[in-house]
Formats: sequence, C-alpha cells, structure tokens
Amino acid sequence: MSLDTRHRLGISNDNAIDPIALVQSKGCLVWTPEDVPEFDLSHLTQLTVSDPDSWDAVTIKEGDCTVIVVNNTRPAPRQANTIMHEWAHLELKHKPSRVDEFENGLLLLSDYPKELEDEANWLSGAMLAPRDGLVNLRKRGLDDDQIAEAFGISSQLATWRLRMTGIDRQFNRRN
Ligand SMILES: [Zn+2]
Repeated sequence: MSLDTRHRLGISNDNAIDPIALVQSKGCLVWTPEDVPEFDLSHLTQLTVSDPDSWDAVTIKEGDCTVIVVNNTRPAPRQANTIMHEWAHLELKHKPSRVDEFENGLLLLSDYPKELEDEANWLSGAMLAPRDGLVNLRKRGLDDDQIAEAFGISSQLATWRLRMTGIDRQFNRRN
C-alpha cells in the first residue's frame, strides 16, 4: 500500500514524502493550533493545558472533516512522524478507545489500544521510509543519519526501520 500511494503522489521510494500533502490527498486537513477556530481551541487547550509541552497532535472531527492539529513547535522530523502516525490511524480505520464530544459537535479522538498504536507506527514508518528506498540508500553507502535526512525523519526512526525491515542484517551478512 505504501508504494502505491507514493506512486500516486509521484514520489520515488528513496525520497521524503510530505505527510501534509498525503493527508490532504485523502480529503483531511493538517492544522497548527493557530488555525483552530477560537471556540474549538478553548476545548483543545483544556485537554492539552495540563502539560502543553508534552502534546504532539490531536485529531478532531467536525462533520465529515477530519483535522490533525499538530504541535508545530516540535522539530520537523518529529512533526512528520506525528502527522503520518495520526494519518495511519485514520487510514486503518482504527477505533479510538476514547472519543470526546463537545456541545458544538466537535469530536476528539484519542487513546488507541497498544496493538493499534503498534499498527499505526508500522504503517507510518513504512510510508515515511519504504523498505525498497532504505535498501537503495544503504547500497549507496548512506549511514543512518544521512538516510534520516533523505526521508525527512529522525535518526531514531531511520535506525528502527533499518532494523525492523531486516536490512541491517542483510547488509552485515554481505560485508
Ligand atoms: Zn497513536
């Protein structure tokens, strides 16, 4: 699925994908807190005020419109991962364990069970850094940090993908 989507968006396997463009191509939106209408923002800040520095994103639904509100004070690679992760929950039609509904009809989706978090992390990682692309970049001799930069993701995520896809084992055997 990740390769089809990249193909559709005209992005090769070893290039960074723009998670915002992907979300928009599915008819959803990505906002920063400044884009949130004031009334809704008061609800969101209620939920994030306990530790405003600890939140990465919230996903809200208003009618047919799904909006991922991302904390844009985070580093870009982290934001990319966060947006893609939230997108993966939507793409996989995950049911959150918690849905808060406000009097204006706004729904806030949160708290997915652990196995759904793992699924979302897997799809999100595969979309940001597909296996074929990882292999190509490794063949060209790029290290984890350079691969992370090519995909616009954190080094930690690049290392995790290289390990989980078995690429590191594959290349170590050859050398
Ligand atoms: Zn999640």
